[in-house]
Amino acid sequence: MHINKNYQNIAETYLFSEIASRVRKYQEHNPDARIIKMGIGDVTRPLCESAVEAMKKACDEMGTKEGFRGYGPEQGYDFLKTAIRDYYKRTSSVTLDIDEIFISDGAKSDIGNILDIFSDDNVIAVTDPVYPVYVDTNTMAGRRITYLPANADNGFLPMPTDDLEADIIYLCSPNNPTGAAYTKDQLKVWVDFANKRDAVILFDSAYEAFVKDKKVPRSIFAVEGARTCAIEFCSFSKTAGFTGTRCGYTVVPGDLIREGMSLRKMWLRRQTTKFNGVSYPVQCAAAACLSEKGIEEIICNLDYYKYNSEVITSTFDELGWPYTGGKNSPYVWVRCPGGMSSWDFFDALLTKANVVGTPGAGFGQNGEGYLRLTSFNTHGNTMEAMRRIREVF
Ligand code: PLP
Repeated sequence: MHINKNYQNIAETYLFSEIASRVRKYQEHNPDARIIKMGIGDVTRPLCESAVEAMKKACDEMGTKEGFRGYGPEQGYDFLKTAIRDYYKRTSSVTLDIDEIFISDGAKSDIGNILDIFSDDNVIAVTDPVYPVYVDTNTMAGRRITYLPANADNGFLPMPTDDLEADIIYLCSPNNPTGAAYTKDQLKVWVDFANKRDAVILFDSAYEAFVKDKKVPRSIFAVEGARTCAIEFCSFSKTAGFTGTRCGYTVVPGDLIREGMSLRKMWLRRQTTKFNGVSYPVQCAAAACLSEKGIEEIICNLDYYKYNSEVITSTFDELGWPYTGGKNSPYVWVRCPGGMSSWDFFDALLTKANVVGTPGAGFGQNGEGYLRLTSFNTHGNTMEAMRRIREVF
């Protein structure tokens, strides 16, 4: 028996535990401090009414002889795939076949599981800073990883260089953690690069619903040529508050062929072998979010967060602090003032303003000197946090 020794190479995820420990210690010594948490990337608004009603109705159906359903299709029910297909058409003018859409319990699982269809000798390219899942899932398989520096010089949006060696390229736009988002022209350069090299882009569009800028595509498939080089991961988590309900989807276009194999067919085979689908009530709830009424309701929640982003960014504008994000994203990535390190600024914010952010250094070397704030708190807390920051700094 041998274990997978690659697990020894995975960095300890001490970021959020270290944050929690510093906050706990501070609170113990300052029991009256009212700490406002703006670090965690989880939503706070409740599920929309349409989702709740659809889920209840589905549960009632399941309790009847006629309405009971056992195993569903592993790749998701047609009613949800059709709703997603129509959503792409409406929001991105992208035409998909429902067989190219695969429903899952969230983007994180699919981002990890997709690696089953790729050989371990592929070279992986990720940005630095990065959503850690891309790095850890590939480290587990022993793949070589190249880091593309994302920094103030390139607007936190690295572009391919002629000498870039990469078979699988992770792009997350709008980005977690930096909030930066690629324009269509920039993505076209990546798509051309991937097609030329026979590389595959794994495009994470978990935050597509936050895009406001018309130049920023909500799907990579809005970019010409993407159907022959990209796989897209998306989720109801941030779009519709499903972080605890769990539903996401992956789009693998039929035109994506490598070494004579259809990646869509390979993913179908993988899913039908290792996955037994998402529960019927959850898929009903997800589909309800994409109905006319559901869309109105989820937009209401998204606008709530977008308003918080404006409160944060207008404060930083006022203070003259450089930042990215906040415009097409729930994340604001701010340069630590006075040349402070990420953790020094974290401590200063915690102790002087009782506000908690996430130190940028936790997302990679290039994150040093930055801090991530999220717009997922309440209006009241966000405004109060910004008032304190203005007062202290
Ligand atoms: N992708 C990115 C960039 C994320 O930030 C997250 C969650 O925070 C996910 C994927 C995971 O999404 P899900 O909840 O659908 O697994």
